Amino acid sequence: MQTEVAYVEEPGVEDRFSSRGNIKVEEVTLDDPKKDEVLIDVKAVGVCHSDWHVASGDMPTEHYPCALGHEGAGIVEEVGDAVTHVEAGDRVVLSWIPSCGKCRFCTAGHQEMCTRGQQVLAGTMPDGTFRMHKDDGTDVGQFAFLGCYAEHIVTHGDSVTSIEEFPDVPWEVAAVTGCAAATGFGAAVNRADIEPGDTVVHFGLGGVGAAAVQGSRRESADQIVVVDPSEYKREKASEFGATHTVDPEETDPMEFVDSITNGRMADVAIFTGSIGTPEALGEAYSTTKSMGQLVSVSNNPADATRIDLPEKAGGTLMFTFGERDITGTLYGGWGPNLAVPTLLEQYESGNLQLGEEGGYLTASYSLDEINEAYNDMIETNNIRGYIDLS
Ligand SMILES: [Zn+2]
Ligand SMILES: [Zn+2]
Repeated sequence: MQTEVAYVEEPGVEDRFSSRGNIKVEEVTLDDPKKDEVLIDVKAVGVCHSDWHVASGDMPTEHYPCALGHEGAGIVEEVGDAVTHVEAGDRVVLSWIPSCGKCRFCTAGHQEMCTRGQQVLAGTMPDGTFRMHKDDGTDVGQFAFLGCYAEHIVTHGDSVTSIEEFPDVPWEVAAVTGCAAATGFGAAVNRADIEPGDTVVHFGLGGVGAAAVQGSRRESADQIVVVDPSEYKREKASEFGATHTVDPEETDPMEFVDSITNGRMADVAIFTGSIGTPEALGEAYSTTKSMGQLVSVSNNPADATRIDLPEKAGGTLMFTFGERDITGTLYGGWGPNLAVPTLLEQYESGNLQLGEEGGYLTASYSLDEINEAYNDMIETNNIRGYIDLS
């Protein structure tokens, strides 16, 4: 069949912070699903920074052209003979981390580390072949086996989670549980060691950050500080549970946290900024107390190799003497088959704001408006935007 899809020809843009319209939307030929695969009618896709890292080359895939989009939801139209957990007509969330259910990590309850997930930057399907092709025969890769900024995709059965239990959840809310909500909420609830009454400092308030702040609220943190240079985002922060905001261009976050904790500093800092430079991660680290914790969720540039522990926070000496903990987390420390239903239950019970009504989804775009959607993201005009394909 034919389908419209948004893709980039090659990685790299002159300016990392401007899309310059380099994402194309064109029709491609889509192969039928193979025996382990499913054909999906895509309904909504969240606009996530990670696709931009693929477009800019900060996080390149091994094959270009590459279709973007990895935070989607839709309806199963067709399944291969070997797919048994979903059937045609089922509502599903698409996950950029597949879960094979059989590898060592999956069986230990950590689907986010599924060995199949190590191939998400290959650009191919897990079997090394392609399902999307241009008219001239050029293969178009699919980021994370998805590339779901498209009317239809074929993906592996392990990349879809049924949401048949949640018939009333809007498509765009289902979509964000496939990446941003799982990653942010999970970082605070699963990975960070937050105790009731703690002080937690969040760096960056996008779709991941706004879910992480709600995770800190859920864990009964007392003081929840959001550090973000965007005035719009600082104004939005209290809607998700923030008690304080800091403009890092005006105020040193370390000094601010010192002032509100009587010098004790934060129990946990969670970094959800879009680009984790050595300095930005070090700034977040500087707000933590002795025996405190820095949790990094950011996509660091592929060539970044350091975290600069600032002198003002005691450098590497106080890393040891302060028994501080620096940890990374992928997908919030859980897998889609646990995260998606848990998040949707939290959404339906009113504990988690993931929709337009909760101030989390702040703009919708058509597929043709994909470059506008990325420019808005880069200019920090959104908490989370989404592409509406319903
Ligand atoms: Zn994402
Ligand atoms: Zn696995």
